[in-house]
Amino acid sequence: MGVFEDDFVQPGRLLDESDEAYWGRVQRASDRVEAVTEGAIAPAPPNPPVCPECGLEADRFPTLSQAWVLLEPLDPVNVLPAHFVPPRQRWLINSDGVAWNPWNAEPTEGAQCRISHTVACPGIEPPDLWPWLTAMREENARRAQRLFNPPRTPTLAKVEMPDVG
Ligand SMILES: [Zn+2]
Repeated sequence: MGVFEDDFVQPGRLLDESDEAYWGRVQRASDRVEAVTEGAIAPAPPNPPVCPECGLEADRFPTLSQAWVLLEPLDPVNVLPAHFVPPRQRWLINSDGVAWNPWNAEPTEGAQCRISHTVACPGIEPPDLWPWLTAMREENARRAQRLFNPPRTPTLAKVEMPDVG
């Protein structure tokens, strides 16, 4: 699945575009990529709030970055204690019905949140929920490899110079 592979590509500047217009456009494009990496990939209304990957219905909310996110329905999942949910996967709903994701912010004691359908979808390869831990594991794998396969130290071979004189 390609849904988590969207990288941000800074848009090119249009001819005669003001700084403000250009950077506004860059901001909107990066917000959109951010929304996608958080799982905000729901079909917009008037399409039904159905996951295009598995066909299950979920609760759809607009996000702060003008995307749409499908959150796992409250029945049977219910809200979760925020400290049970990995960073960047904690979704909150504002009083105006807009969903947002506090990214790596430490949850306050007793905080609750919802999760996006994408992390629970049977049709989508799950994202790396702990990327810093994955990076640490990969670095440890490299370190362990060096223990057992130490790099060859260059040997200084005696080179016989041909007698040219
Ligand atoms: Zn799904």
